Amino acid sequence: MKIKTYKKINGIYHKGNSLLTRNLVPGTTVYGENLVKEKGIEYRAWNPRRSKLAAMLLNGGEVFPFVKNSKVLYLGAASGTTVSHLSDIVTEGMIYCVEFSQRVFRDLILVCETRKNMIPILEDAHFPERYKPVVGKVDVVYQDISQRDQVYIFLKNLRLCLKDNGYGILMVKARSIDIAAVPSSIFRHVRQDLKDNNLITLEDINLSPYAKDHIGIIIR
Ligand code: SAM
Repeated sequence: MKIKTYKKINGIYHKGNSLLTRNLVPGTTVYGENLVKEKGIEYRAWNPRRSKLAAMLLNGGEVFPFVKNSKVLYLGAASGTTVSHLSDIVTEGMIYCVEFSQRVFRDLILVCETRKNMIPILEDAHFPERYKPVVGKVDVVYQDISQRDQVYIFLKNLRLCLKDNGYGILMVKARSIDIAAVPSSIFRHVRQDLKDNNLITLEDINLSPYAKDHIGIIIR
């Protein structure tokens, strides 16, 4: 089976059902993913069970606002799994990776050392005013943070750091917002909050079976 571009999206490939990105740092892996070579080019398998963005694409996502020179603010970077695939795609751009856990931040730094388009920021995403001087305005704000007030955090970061015509991607984990509530009612509230803040939803995708009780939302 040959490697082909996925859904005409620049920077994303597939081989059968497996999503791939072109490895920016050939010969290295970030989270033990498989490496695949074709015609001298190395690709990394993008695992939808480890990355909600890959799950979103496989579940029908078609809006993909990342291009090679995108400037991205990534909230909840963890040890760099999803960010590393974005780093394969925004080869001439920059990803500001915000993470507040010291433990995973150490692993994130190691990934950033080999990928020059990733800048690690040890900060709490509740306070974008602290990193705004470094980040400036970005094309995309991406958030994957398991916090009760994740929508508030998202809105605050959009307001401060997103360019006028930029995109926001929010991965919503129902159980982090309220462990006892029915996920569909949590999602309804999140959608309403976004609407009340005049955001236009371009995509709203359930991430099951890759991530249970999660949706991914893309707004403008
Ligand atoms: N996005 C990652 C990926 O796909 O590779 C996984 C992110 S993990 C689900 C959520 C991360 O958000 C954790 O590493 C956690 O420490 C971080 N986090 C939670 N609250 C945060 C906050 N207020 N500020 C910064 N990071 C936060």
